[in-house]
Amino acid sequence: MTDAFTYQGGSLHADAVDLATLSAEIGTPFYCYSASAFRDSLGELQQAFNGIDPLIAYAMKANSNQAILTLLGKLGAGADVVSLGELERAIAAGIAPEKIVFSGVGKSKAEMRRGLELGIHCFNVESEPELERLNLIAGEMGQIAPVSVRINPNVDAKTHAKISTGKSENKFGIPYERAETVYAEIAAAKNLRAVGVDMHIGSQITDLEPFDNAFALLAELVTRLKAAGHPIAHVDIGGGLGIVYEPLAHKPDIAAYAALVVKHIAPLGCRLVLEPGRWIAGNAGVLVTRVEYVKTGAERHFVIVDAAMNDLIRPTLYEAWHDIAPVTEPQPDSETMTADIVGAICETGDYLAQNRVLPKVVEGDLLAVKSAGAYGAVMAGTYNTRPLIAEVLVDGDRHHLIRPRQTLADLIGQDDVPGWL
Ligand SMILES: *Cc1c(COP(=O)(O)O)cnc(C)c1O
Repeated sequence: MTDAFTYQGGSLHADAVDLATLSAEIGTPFYCYSASAFRDSLGELQQAFNGIDPLIAYAMKANSNQAILTLLGKLGAGADVVSLGELERAIAAGIAPEKIVFSGVGKSKAEMRRGLELGIHCFNVESEPELERLNLIAGEMGQIAPVSVRINPNVDAKTHAKISTGKSENKFGIPYERAETVYAEIAAAKNLRAVGVDMHIGSQITDLEPFDNAFALLAELVTRLKAAGHPIAHVDIGGGLGIVYEPLAHKPDIAAYAALVVKHIAPLGCRLVLEPGRWIAGNAGVLVTRVEYVKTGAERHFVIVDAAMNDLIRPTLYEAWHDIAPVTEPQPDSETMTADIVGAICETGDYLAQNRVLPKVVEGDLLAVKSAGAYGAVMAGTYNTRPLIAEVLVDGDRHHLIRPRQTLADLIGQDDVPGWL
């Protein structure tokens, strides 16, 4: 994959658009995405599975801006949704219902009804009570609900604890050992039809071994279920393939990943479904922020910027490491400094980087927080009454404000003061 964010003429660009010019036009902070980077990452995945025609159900919780969904939908992607809101976004973006899978441990009745009404590809069911509820609701609507059971294989994904989902202590899925009982229950239920089996063991997985173990277990199970007469038409291997955050980090190899999938899943004779999120969106976006102050504390330097943990919570929540680059290209002999790069929020956890060596910056300089395309804007909040920031999509030399900055009037105006105060 070629990097869409490169220095051209001494300034960091997204495709052919200068981030300094963009900052002057729309103000900071803002997220900037590259359409070509999205095309490249999805294209690379489609290429890796060329010939087996998988359903690539983009896990849109990674980045669900309507412009991004429209772009990916037009390139053939389906969607993995986890809420009514995401389902409505996918439909509004023109993604066909038969390309939508509905995941999540807590589906409400309204979410089930809407999914059935639209005729989505399937519900990825995560518990027996959920199966019961879905059977009931499908019955009320005179429909047969297509289901896939999410299996928890009790495999260690070797990723951060907060994004590890395939261990038996995690809330996700049905224990591997119970799978056959549960599929027998589905076969006996009047308004359910088993169409697939799914698994999702975690996120930002860069070591292929956990996938190897999980897919082997999945394949064994599917073989047994098919032998028992269950009409398993697809196998959904989830998402979780990691990206490179650190420039020198070990890069998961998409071809090796695809080979692993094909080795385990192709012999089953089922359609392959994938749910990649981060792998598609992660490196397709940056967060651009401006330095407000450079402060020298008793023990270390702080670069205080205008973005904060409410805009990008990954460092705080997952101890995530993001590369941070000055928008003005540093010279090889530029002086460096070691600093914490922090926001203005009244929390010690409010930082974007700690103990980071970077070219010396001063007030007014622009920085780009790299690999912020996934789990960035979608996880933003308004803590400290900080409005949600702008999002921009760049394509070649064009750019478009795909979400305007929220105004203070919007934000404050959402509250309503009772007349009796
Ligand atoms: C979050 C999630 C994904 C996507 O994970 P990535 O690491 O972004 O690829 C896929 N499937 C399910 C069920 C998820 O919860």
